[in-house]
Amino acid sequence: MAAERLVVVLGAGINGAAIARELVLSGVGVVVVDADDAGGGATAWSTRLVHGGLRYLEYGEIGLVRESLAERDRLVRLAPHLVRPLPFLLPARGRTGGLLAAAARLAGLESLARRWRGSRGRGLWAVSAGLTLYDLLATGAGWPRHRTMRTGAAPLPRVDAAAFPFAAIYADAQMLFPERFTVELLVDARRLAAEAGTRFEVLTHHAVRPTGGGRLLAAPADAAGGRGDAAAVELRPDAIVNATGAWVDRTLDAVLPAGDPAGRRRLIGGTKGSHLVLRTTALRAALADHGVYAEAADGRPVFVLPFGPALVLVGTTDIPFAGDPATARADDEEIDYLLAAVGLLFPQVAVSRGDVQQHYCGVRPLPSTAPGAGGGQPAGITRRHLLVRQPDAPLPCWSVVGGKLTTCRSLAEQVAAEVLPAVGLAVRGTTRDRPLPGACAGPSRATAVAEAVAGGLRAGLSPPAAERTGERLVAIFGARAGAVWRHCDDPIDGTLLEGTDLPAAAVRHCVDEEWAATVDDVVCRRLMLSFDERLGRGTIRDVAAALVRAGRLRADRAAAAADACAESLGRRHGRTLRPAAAAGYHDRP
Ligand SMILES: Cc1cc2nc3c(=O)[nH]c(=O)nc-3n(C[C@H](O)[C@H](O)[C@H](O)COP(=O)(O)OP(=O)(O)OC[C@H]3O[C@@H](n4cnc5c(N)ncnc54)[C@H](O)[C@@H]3O)c2cc1C
Repeated sequence: MAAERLVVVLGAGINGAAIARELVLSGVGVVVVDADDAGGGATAWSTRLVHGGLRYLEYGEIGLVRESLAERDRLVRLAPHLVRPLPFLLPARGRTGGLLAAAARLAGLESLARRWRGSRGRGLWAVSAGLTLYDLLATGAGWPRHRTMRTGAAPLPRVDAAAFPFAAIYADAQMLFPERFTVELLVDARRLAAEAGTRFEVLTHHAVRPTGGGRLLAAPADAAGGRGDAAAVELRPDAIVNATGAWVDRTLDAVLPAGDPAGRRRLIGGTKGSHLVLRTTALRAALADHGVYAEAADGRPVFVLPFGPALVLVGTTDIPFAGDPATARADDEEIDYLLAAVGLLFPQVAVSRGDVQQHYCGVRPLPSTAPGAGGGQPAGITRRHLLVRQPDAPLPCWSVVGGKLTTCRSLAEQVAAEVLPAVGLAVRGTTRDRPLPGACAGPSRATAVAEAVAGGLRAGLSPPAAERTGERLVAIFGARAGAVWRHCDDPIDGTLLEGTDLPAAAVRHCVDEEWAATVDDVVCRRLMLSFDERLGRGTIRDVAAALVRAGRLRADRAAAAADACAESLGRRHGRTLRPAAAAGYHDRP
């Protein structure tokens, strides 16, 4: 029997995870290695939209928009628990305006387009022309066509009708938690590999270096507060896919030192984009469960989005960034810029710094371009993804450049079509119609909630608490929510993490089933507690205590690991946490 082929995927962002899943489907062994956690790069720091990219039409990117719209439809069907249609309002200051600028942009004359944009932005006719094309390119049933109207009509988002008398309504979709979507891609890949009997491993918090002869060593990083007993893994891949996003060039320098890093063509020219998470009841109510897509004072696109029932997400900026992507932060100027953009749209709400619950910033892995490309504007750089084969690698090695949340699956298909033949295999399947493991909607969602509620009642929660917990578990784990209660060996696992509706058993589930290794992994990317307005120091200590019980964290390091997570939320994201309650269970042995 021929030896199993192995592809190493570097990077467990949404693209690396989607690629791993697509490859596994065709019977190749896959090891995914991430220097940090799954879904912690640009995937987490995005605007969380699954969209065709209306704006790209002006840049003539018809193919990208068509592909994105087809994927939008698929992701809503295949992951309805995580990707949901969202109606958008696009306000306009007048009827005319923007048509000449759009034509200039389409002709590649960005500087002229900016000159012609004027102070009033795109008018209703320009917007409507773009949306008509958007509607025509869209595939799938149930996507309503756009309509135009006067802004004063209820129950639309209450944008300033005096400044923006006209509006268009159209639909796109929102992926509330791309972090969770990424993990589910990996869970599905593991399931596929188990069915096929092929190798599949995910090594998070591991650094990769070459050891010669095309071999790699993945060595565990001493992730803050980790168990510290994981062994290094030697890998003998037949091919490598470098899906490390904005880190692509740094990764190549680390894994291909035999080449000449100085002479190697740089692939990424990243731009940073910041977001605000606002906690303001008035603004959340004014949105009326719509997203708003508008132009900031400088003409850049800005999104104001409902983010769960209580929060509002605002983004984003677009600023060239050449540093380590892990160090990108939302600066004061960006925070003021985004607040000003919201102020233009909703002057009656008067948002201020005090409404910012937290902020975040990510680096777009855009292709490196010649100076002046895209009209000298970051917004003009193509959002298409590219797959670049490395000429100086000792074994077949490709790097993924660019990509969007929206196109992760179609990108993965393209990567599989290129990589599999290079390792002597054929494409044997596609994920086009394969739901994610947690997929549920309508009656199947109701069943998932009922199962999760029953688990809570068995664990001793009161009926109202079990209801709230069941809903929250399904929001996070979809159809897999009921399985969380299997991790309830100790009665303490049935108790709720301080201030939340999630049981400690969920932490164990994330460790056993979803590769969670650190307090930060659980808080920020598995249980999505980092965005929960009730998150407090006690919650984080409870997570650390559950990690100790799960054998993932040494007891003598638990307090320090919890403090490090709390401190990082404050330093990186400006998040203030509630103090711990006096007698949380985290204080018990
Ligand atoms: C501000 C902003 C807004 C965006 N908004 C949207 C949007 O609304 N909709 C949309 O469709 N797209 C959006 N995008 C684009 C999208 O988020 C990204 O293109 C996508 O998440 C990239 O995923 P990735 O897996 O390629 O990279 P990442 O998510 O960055 O993952 C790369 C991974 O590689 C790991 N890594 C780094 N170095 C190494 C190494 N040496 N070895 C192993 N692992 C390593 C990192 O830890 C990380 O986990 C946005 C992007 C940004 C930045």
